[in-house]
Amino acid sequence: MPIPASVTDAATSNFAALKCPHCGEMYLHQENVTIYHRAEDARYTVVMAQNGHDMVVTKFPSEEVMNPSSRRHGIVIEFWCEYCNMEYTSVDSAGNETQMNKGAEPLKLAIYQHKGYTLMEWV
Ligand SMILES: [Zn+2]
Repeated sequence: MPIPASVTDAATSNFAALKCPHCGEMYLHQENVTIYHRAEDARYTVVMAQNGHDMVVTKFPSEEVMNPSSRRHGIVIEFWCEYCNMEYTSVDSAGNETQMNKGAEPLKLAIYQHKGYTLMEWV
């Protein structure tokens, strides 16, 4: 079940930062990005997917792709959260903590067209 995305209050911080859907903190780090380019109800969708430092561009039948939009364009951005996805493994003599990623599934934010709106939700 998708979770609506929320941001911090821009009126109090001069910016709006995306909040983690699990802990509510705003220390999210971006990872892979996938872009789905589809004209309204087009038979084919052009998918631009990150593969390491490269982008792979491929055209697929629209019914075969994981586009968050059922009819138009969509974007999926993966994130990891400093609070949910990290654990502290050691502290050196200066008191600095070394962090290790827990290897949890990345958080996925979908931004997509739906009936004239641009929706943002965690999928
Ligand atoms: Zn979190």
